[in-house]
Amino acid sequence: MPQQSEPERERLLFDGRQCIGAEYRIGERLIEARAGRETLLCAGAVQSPQVLELSGIGQPARLRALGIEVRLALPGVGENYRDHYAPRLRWRVKNAITLKQRTHGVRLAWEVLRYAATRRGALSLAPGLACGFVRTRPELETPDFQYFFADASYGNAATRQLEREGGMTLSGFQQRPESRGSIHAQSADPAVPPVILPNILSEEIDRQCVVAGLKIARRIVENPAMDRYRAFELIPGKEVQSDDEWLDFARRDGVTSFHPMGTCRMGRDPLAVTDDELNVRGIGGLRVIDASIMPTMVSGNINAAVLMIGEKGAAMVAAAQRNAAPIAVAS
Ligand SMILES: Cc1cc2nc3c(=O)[nH]c(=O)nc-3n(C[C@H](O)[C@H](O)[C@H](O)COP(=O)(O)OP(=O)(O)OC[C@H]3O[C@@H](n4cnc5c(N)ncnc54)[C@H](O)[C@@H]3O)c2cc1C
Repeated sequence: MPQQSEPERERLLFDGRQCIGAEYRIGERLIEARAGRETLLCAGAVQSPQVLELSGIGQPARLRALGIEVRLALPGVGENYRDHYAPRLRWRVKNAITLKQRTHGVRLAWEVLRYAATRRGALSLAPGLACGFVRTRPELETPDFQYFFADASYGNAATRQLEREGGMTLSGFQQRPESRGSIHAQSADPAVPPVILPNILSEEIDRQCVVAGLKIARRIVENPAMDRYRAFELIPGKEVQSDDEWLDFARRDGVTSFHPMGTCRMGRDPLAVTDDELNVRGIGGLRVIDASIMPTMVSGNINAAVLMIGEKGAAMVAAAQRNAAPIAVAS
């Protein structure tokens, strides 16, 4: 009987348990790249687990269900997903010029020119103009909730469409959530995005922290120092008072802060995907170097920590290179 060849797709290439390169696509062309020493997987916390799964590394039952041949059972692939989930409180303002007025109609053209000429003005601003950290319980040694203040209000945080009237927003997230979700391939086709199951607010400690953090946010903006600028609370509105009402609001209103991490977690237990040198456990010549290797969430926006992972990872690769025997080059 003729042997069935494996389907053509973007994936890592192996010789037994040794990773020897990758197949990737540019347009219609599938290209094979062979690694001299190591293959580095840096596709981020959403796609690194997907690439491993499409290459046969992950939970065997899940892979078989997608028709993917199992190369290595590694049950932690795609698990341990966490993010900073941020509900947003919004107010109408008075005596203030918000982003809306600064970028409405002809003023936007002026701001575009100003940015082009001077790199200054409304277009040079970060989305959060001020940050803050609080302890939601006095007995905590360090803060557990982070705020972002914006001189703007968005009807829909996903599309970031400014509301017709000017407003201000105080959004916030629990710094180190305990709730864990997962990110897994849903098809053997790499063009099909993986499924993200956030599972946010599934732990009681997270629910308590977020409710407390949102209540403190309201207290901050209700401070007399803000009387001059605060017109009225728009979202969630004064009808939200009890903890259950705050929790319900948090579930409905929150959005990702775009900080996915943890899906190829570093560690030494059976659910760890990478070891403390970022090697994929059980596979030779393959490291993961991105936000997916974080075992737990860092206490703030994660990009600085991801850069550090990149630098540490690069140093590990360089050290391995120094210690390795030279590669024989055929003449
Ligand atoms: C809109 C937005 C705003 C953010 N703002 C902030 C902020 O203000 N502060 C902060 O600290 N963090 C912020 N972050 C988070 C920060 O950008 C990420 O945590 C960080 O970039 C993660 O780095 P990474 O290397 O793990 O993954 P990424 O930066 O996502 O890099 C992964 C790369 O792999 C590529 N890739 C994926 N799959 C494949 C494939 N199959 N083949 C080839 N290439 C592939 C992707 O195109 C991408 O270039 C923000 C993120 C977003 C999306």
